[in-house]
Amino acid sequence: MDQSTLPVNLTTMNTHEFQGKSLLKAYNVDIQEGFVAETPEQAVTVAKQLHEKFGSEYFVVKAQIHAGGRGKGGGVKLAKSLDDVERIAGQILGMQLITPQTGPEGKKVNKVLIAQDVYYKGPSEHKEFYISLLLNRNTGRNIFMYSPEGGMSIEEVAEKSPEQIFTEEIDPSIGMQQFQMRNIAFNLGLSGTAFKNMQKFLNGLYETYTGIDAQLLEVNPVLKTSDDRILAVDCKLVLDDNALFRHPELASMRDLNEEDPVEVEAGKHNLNFVKLDGNVGCMVNGAGLAMATMDIIKLSGGAPANFLDVGGGANPKTVEAGFRIILKDPEVKAILINIFGGIVRCDRVANGVVEAYKSIGEIKVPVIVRLQGTNAEEAKKIIDNSGLRVFSAVTFSEAAELVTKVLNK
Ligand code: GDP
Ligand code: MN
Repeated sequence: MDQSTLPVNLTTMNTHEFQGKSLLKAYNVDIQEGFVAETPEQAVTVAKQLHEKFGSEYFVVKAQIHAGGRGKGGGVKLAKSLDDVERIAGQILGMQLITPQTGPEGKKVNKVLIAQDVYYKGPSEHKEFYISLLLNRNTGRNIFMYSPEGGMSIEEVAEKSPEQIFTEEIDPSIGMQQFQMRNIAFNLGLSGTAFKNMQKFLNGLYETYTGIDAQLLEVNPVLKTSDDRILAVDCKLVLDDNALFRHPELASMRDLNEEDPVEVEAGKHNLNFVKLDGNVGCMVNGAGLAMATMDIIKLSGGAPANFLDVGGGANPKTVEAGFRIILKDPEVKAILINIFGGIVRCDRVANGVVEAYKSIGEIKVPVIVRLQGTNAEEAKKIIDNSGLRVFSAVTFSEAAELVTKVLNK
């Protein structure tokens, strides 16, 4: 699949727990089994299926949102009967779930995972671990980060007992070695059957992580059951957007409901947009120029309201889309457009700005445009003669002065 046909163009993509687990399962990693449901009735149907297939008597109802800490927020609950499943699914579906990771507004729950209860009844011998795989950017190698203290967030472990966090770095030229898996299983305090099962589990995690080009694969908790099975109870997965073209089946797992609507809108127009909390919107081509532009805004006494790179495609359509996106932010007091016309000629961009300005209609904030490069002079004339509330600048410092001036008005 061509990358440009993907709905959004962000740098990472997150998945739901149920999606992550289905990938783990495809790579032969043992998981807490479950099925997803969107209504309480469906929840009962899939709970019955779980009973038939796996003999489950108890179930857990788990809210599916892109945030961790669901258990703490009331998004993970044990159901001891089908009636419980229906009632609890009814409570969780549609709720605005607040967890330590969602922010105070919470996230709406549209799906629940009905999973088998794997914390067997009675005096239990089960144990929870933390295991993740991620890229160590300092060494350029993948590492396992793991801890015998599972269940709670790794940040908490880092704070309370940092000596309980271990790492195992993988040499990319030879891949993960048997002794490394034994090391991990040993440090987790396992022996016998559980030790062997953990080796298989780790191997599967590594195969999954590399097979799908993940940036982060976090399983917390990994559970050792009372009968020594090793299971993934949760799964957080961050995929590398730049590798999604190799995995069209993963790209379709994207859940746009979970993403920032403005960023989704920007992605549709192939704009690289990140919302920030300043007062000067900016539209730039090229990430380097974007960084420099954000610096000028700071030096002018403002603060960037966003990062917006229109890339190589600065044409009237993208300029208009960029404008509209910036204008959605009520904090924006001025807009700075800073485009270097190399392949795209400045006069075309200037016409694009004027057209976009007219077609949007009501732009209440001053717009400052700096166009440099091919046909820059012509471009300046177009802006100056447009009769619009658009100010043109030629140099960086002029642009900066104009920003200061309009902000202080
Ligand atoms: P998170 O809170 O978003 O990280 O969601 P998790 O999937 O990690 O679940 C949170 C907690 O729910 C786990 O740490 C467990 O203690 C508990 N939990 C998960 N699955 C089961 C289960 O099958 N039975 C029981 N009794 N508790 C479970
Ligand atoms: Mn978890």
